[in-house]
Amino acid sequence: KRLLAALTSVALLAVVAACSTADGAATTARQKAGVAMPTQLLERWIRDSQEVEAQLEALGYDVTLLYADDDVPLQVQQVGQLIDEGVELLIIGAVDGTALKDELARAKAAGIPVIAYDRLIRDSDAVDYYATFDNYQVGVLQGTHLLQELGVLDSNGTPTNTADTFAIEIFAGSPDDNNATVFYTAAMSVLQPYIDAGTLVVPSGETAFEAVATAAWDNNTAGERMASLLSSNDTPLDAVLSPNDGIARAVLEQSKSAGYGTSSQPLPVVTGQDAEVDSVKSLVAGEQASTIYKDTRQLAEVAVLMGHYLLQGKQPEVNDTTSYDNGTKVVPSYLLPPRLVTVDNYRESLIETGYLSEDELS
Ligand code: BGC
Repeated sequence: KRLLAALTSVALLAVVAACSTADGAATTARQKAGVAMPTQLLERWIRDSQEVEAQLEALGYDVTLLYADDDVPLQVQQVGQLIDEGVELLIIGAVDGTALKDELARAKAAGIPVIAYDRLIRDSDAVDYYATFDNYQVGVLQGTHLLQELGVLDSNGTPTNTADTFAIEIFAGSPDDNNATVFYTAAMSVLQPYIDAGTLVVPSGETAFEAVATAAWDNNTAGERMASLLSSNDTPLDAVLSPNDGIARAVLEQSKSAGYGTSSQPLPVVTGQDAEVDSVKSLVAGEQASTIYKDTRQLAEVAVLMGHYLLQGKQPEVNDTTSYDNGTKVVPSYLLPPRLVTVDNYRESLIETGYLSEDELS
């Protein structure tokens, strides 16, 4: 709410500034902002991009928005194009967090502030600020909910000391996305003690990040891995740690093809992230167990205000100055809170907040 109030007042200031000359003519030149986003393949990135664009425009910016189709060289080229176009601000959701350093050095030399959006940009001192969610907390929520659904933890998160054992497989996101490692590390911090104790058994034996990662967050790749896990192990799976909704749906689809989803062989407990429409429908249908709601409207607001304040010579608000070392500097960050969503709270979390509409879910 505070951020929204700030945005509203900044928007008003911008309007007032543009209109308040003696002869009434607007003299404030519109500033150009460049927005580089990773992909249009995932619903969340479209929502993010539309919000960022709309909020920048409300502050009086001309916006060029480019999507990189998860293609690293294409994004490098697009960031270069934005700099050449003369943007005064860059907001970047990186495909490969390590690939942009040369272009960003050019941005820095040109005095263009750079905001890392959702994903940390690594190995570059040209990144001014980072707007994201508490990504570690995302993984903790996923791991904890998975254990609660299995009955290993109770609803308060207290161990039930069950004598049962459960078969689970682990999936992670793309190795070039810094977030993927954070989600994985956090979820494993919750699950590993139960793997070590034998309460959780991983039939494939694959638990290392490199073994369970999904290049480019590609759902088909994850689906293929799930199909091969299911065909090479006879142990019925009780749960799958999935880092996001796209991978969760691929995992569930393969599980169904392999005969899961009956009363004698229920679907595994599958986690997710992003509160995508198809996954919320899946929650409601009793299939996907959970998702993580990250309000992309708020993220857009934080990132836009960071850039806007920098251009005005003001200091953006941050709430974390220790967590995100990009290999060159610790990037001052604002972390928004993620929320666990299940069939029990999706209405209040997603519909009553206006993030999704009833129509989208019908
Ligand atoms: C984002 C997730 C998203 C994933 C795949 C991550 O960096 O934080 O919300 O599901 O990328 O696009």
